[in-house]
Amino acid sequence: MSVFSAKEFDNHEAVLFFHDRTTGLKAIIAVHDTTLGPALGGTRMWNYESDEAALADVLRLSRGMTYKSSLAGVNLGGGKSVIIGDPRTDKTPALFEAFGRAVDQLGGRYIAAEDVGTSVADLETARQTTRHIAGISEGNAGDPSPATAYGVFQGLKAAVLFRLKKDTLSGIKVAVQGLGHVGYGLCELLKEAGATLIVADINETSVSKAVDQLGAVPVGIEEIYDQDVDVFAPCALGAILNDNTIPRLNAYIVAGSANNQLAEAHHANIMTARGLLYAPDYAINAGGIIMISHEGPKFDREKAMRHVGGIYDTCLDIFKRAERENMTTAEIADRIALERLEKARNDKKKLALAS
Ligand code: NAD
Repeated sequence: MSVFSAKEFDNHEAVLFFHDRTTGLKAIIAVHDTTLGPALGGTRMWNYESDEAALADVLRLSRGMTYKSSLAGVNLGGGKSVIIGDPRTDKTPALFEAFGRAVDQLGGRYIAAEDVGTSVADLETARQTTRHIAGISEGNAGDPSPATAYGVFQGLKAAVLFRLKKDTLSGIKVAVQGLGHVGYGLCELLKEAGATLIVADINETSVSKAVDQLGAVPVGIEEIYDQDVDVFAPCALGAILNDNTIPRLNAYIVAGSANNQLAEAHHANIMTARGLLYAPDYAINAGGIIMISHEGPKFDREKAMRHVGGIYDTCLDIFKRAERENMTTAEIADRIALERLEKARNDKKKLALAS
């Protein structure tokens, strides 16, 4: 397996592989960039088809976290970890304690949080063996998912204003793919705002709950792309904006929480050409990281949520700049994130030279 010449390798500062003989833990931690602060990012547990697939995921996701924190204006770097295994059958407390010991070896350079396949409870177990865990209840922000859902809701509202010239979500039709921690929370906010929901999830229980409690209309997991809606909100897994799905989308806007939604960078151009307004994933789903960045002895939830609400303005700014500069929204988001990162890198260099 190649690391330095992997397609997803982007000058990562560190990539560490961990194995624990007793618990069977197999994990990879990637630290992409710590210019802005310690690398913070979730821990994904997934039954990867190969070690290469796990490596590719952790490299891509950790890079994404650098851009996300930079764009969100928080002083955190980008990192991510993956545990190779089936989250439904392979979880044990000992496994997460072993994972905590792995995180601890980085001495705070990487801070773990929950992600797909892991829960706040799992991270609380890992907290037994390291203090470098964020987004758990213990005097902290707790589960970041409600903040992420609120941020997506705000970004979605900005997209509706920009693309459809409507300052209300009343009567807006949204197709939500994935009713997990974030997707379901988003549905609740949308319902409260008067939107109509069309939903799909591989988990039948979540679908039934959305139907019963939120009056959502259920569709099959393949049919969700074809719905005649205003907004398509991907809140499950990545790479779902691709050659197969984009031509099927019958919406004006794509705004959802999933990480790495674009299968390839050029899919942003294809969407723009089709008149689809894309809210860049790491701009709209930064609510959790913003919330976590407020953690500390003086944690103030209301202040943190106001900060999360700023995703509305961030997204609106991206949409306007993209239109003005005739670029895709994804390119503009990257540009803003890189501008801040480059400035911080230069400031650090100057400081080092001066000392
Ligand atoms: P989750 O695991 O709680 O939810 C994912 C949901 O998607 C599950 O209900 C699952 O059954 C469903 N799903 C899986 N495959 C599907 C398919 N093919 N079609 C439809 N549904 C499918 O995860 P989450 O925390 O809600 O995160 C959702 C997405 O948002 C992920 O991509 C995650 O990386 C991203 N994200 C989450 C946060 C957060 O704070 N939790 C922050 C930023 C980004």
